[in-house]
Amino acid sequence: MVNLKNYVSEINDFPKHGIVFKDINPIYRDPLIWKQAMRAIEDLVIKTSPDLIAGIESRGFIIASALAYKNEIGFIPIRKSGKLPGKVIGINYHLEYGSDRLEVEPESIKKNSRVIIIDDLLATGGTASTAGKLITEAEGQLIGYGFLIELSNLNGRKKLNPEVLIKSSIIY
Ligand code: AMP
Repeated sequence: MVNLKNYVSEINDFPKHGIVFKDINPIYRDPLIWKQAMRAIEDLVIKTSPDLIAGIESRGFIIASALAYKNEIGFIPIRKSGKLPGKVIGINYHLEYGSDRLEVEPESIKKNSRVIIIDDLLATGGTASTAGKLITEAEGQLIGYGFLIELSNLNGRKKLNPEVLIKSSIIY
């Protein structure tokens, strides 16, 4: 087992002054490292048996879609404003650097279906908690969250529903 932190680059002041951006692209370049990084999130799938895996645009798509395809589970995108066609529901929120809006197609979620949400990184928790609210508003049942990286000093976990399982592969 390698130390996965060796495969995360840190870029100072990106995309804004004061932010230390965690670049996880080096993980994806090496399939064995990527496999190791997915272990905690795969464990989430085993423990929760979801009907759907929801990925948050855009870096969350990489992990969520790989996980959904490999485990033969449906994938749904949670997207930024104005990207999804047809009927959408959306919520505005604040994040570590700025503000944004997430949207989902409610028709993509059957009532009470079991959904896990995947993103690359948990920082303040604004993005993930908003995604969770969207799933609930669309009448899905939120059962878990999976992240490749968690910045524990920002206490994002506290913003998430304490009743759902939360798994992160790399904790800072
Ligand atoms: P937050 O809503 O504060 O938990 O921020 C999480 C979202 O913002 C994720 O979708 C990340 O991709 C992105 N993000 C926040 N902080 C960072 C960071 N330091 N490095 C890389 N991505 C980040």
